[in-house]
Amino acid sequence: MLGKQFKGVSIWPFVILKNRELKDDYYFINHEKIHLRQQIELFILPFYIWYFMEYLFRLVQYRDTFLSYKNISFEREAYTQEMKEDYLSERKFWAFLQFL
Ligand SMILES: [Zn+2]
Repeated sequence: MLGKQFKGVSIWPFVILKNRELKDDYYFINHEKIHLRQQIELFILPFYIWYFMEYLFRLVQYRDTFLSYKNISFEREAYTQEMKEDYLSERKFWAFLQFL
């Protein structure tokens, strides 16, 4: 959802970019589109609650804010699949569960 260094954030139905050039950052846009899909599947608000709860859980697990963020299932899915061009067309419903 948030980039390594903050590049943008997706809050359905918007993707907010830090700067205009990011529109051409293919992996970044794909990453954010994956989050938009995850958000729709969870009816938006529960996504943010889950995201935050899992972040806290990972924080206990990893004791490191960056590692915790990277290991949230939504981020694991987005980071591992962002380079696949047709990922969203073949992605299964609630696919993020495979990344828990
Ligand atoms: Zn993300």
